Amino acid sequence: MEHLLDVRNLKVHFKTYGGEVQAVRGVTFHVEAGETVAVVGESGCGKSVTAQAIMGLIPCPPGRIVDGSVTFNGKEITRMSKAELLKLRGSEIGMIFQDPMTALNPTMKIGTQLTEGLVYHHGVPREEARAKAVELLRQVGIPDAEKRVEQYPHEFSGGMRQRVVIAIALACNPKLVIADEPTTALDVTVQAQILDLLKELQIKTNLSIIMITHDLGVVAEIAHRAVVMYAGVVVESGPVELIFAQPKHPYTWGLMRSMPRMNGESKERLIPIDGTPPDLFHPPQGCPFAERCDYAMEICAHEMPDASQFSGGHQAACWLHDARAPRIDELIASGR
Ligand code: SF4
Ligand code: MG
Repeated sequence: MEHLLDVRNLKVHFKTYGGEVQAVRGVTFHVEAGETVAVVGESGCGKSVTAQAIMGLIPCPPGRIVDGSVTFNGKEITRMSKAELLKLRGSEIGMIFQDPMTALNPTMKIGTQLTEGLVYHHGVPREEARAKAVELLRQVGIPDAEKRVEQYPHEFSGGMRQRVVIAIALACNPKLVIADEPTTALDVTVQAQILDLLKELQIKTNLSIIMITHDLGVVAEIAHRAVVMYAGVVVESGPVELIFAQPKHPYTWGLMRSMPRMNGESKERLIPIDGTPPDLFHPPQGCPFAERCDYAMEICAHEMPDASQFSGGHQAACWLHDARAPRIDELIASGR
């Protein structure tokens, strides 16, 4: 069956003064209609670049898609013209970014910003657009919508601005919304409200969401499936319940350990993963996590592991799960 979005073996490089960075090195995943897929990892793992490639927003130069494909609704995004991409982003794929203040134009009324896309891409007349703006604000839970459409971004709180950004993303009834760290700039209570809003909108409109985040709390809260990225590759992916219940990749184990647990009032201490990700100017030949991995074996440094398949569409690329490598119980028995 065809998925709404298929990313296959995507590779994206960026030219810099220091050489070429291999930011995304063969990423594969898909998104179905009505589901939320979280793309998770530390900064620099390639998650935002992957999102940019899906939206046709890789600045070229210095960036270029070296290999792979991104198909949306059966159409190949990587080969679209600028005009086709503009149309796609104006009508089929919506975007929500981290900082609502930079996403909004401070000199333009909220109502105008909400309906720019409708007027521009769909030729909706102004009066109709205003009514639509009011409706959109109501849809994202902003009270006094009639008055609010006449106001400017500075008259809104951070959480309300992010609601406006979500309303803009939804204005043209997209099938897919890509949200890049949409709640990072917000406090915890507002963050929870925004995630609830996205879930509610998803149920109402069968929207698909790609949630780019470094926060496993957000993943647990909103995603159906997760794609864990490290150093430009996918190290683990699958249904969120399975990844949380039985994580398979040592990097995911590290992420889980570094996740704060809320026990009543107290916040358990974070255990950060030692070391830093590899240099993506010269990515390692083997497993990119080898330098930081407590379980690394000889083979890990030389050969990239293939993805091993587990039940429920869960997969992980680690030699621990490969028949050609020593078994995990042998490693544990040997005290590693
Ligand atoms: Fe660790 Fe080797 Fe697995 Fe990489 S492949 S995560 S180095 S055990
Ligand atoms: Mg980012």
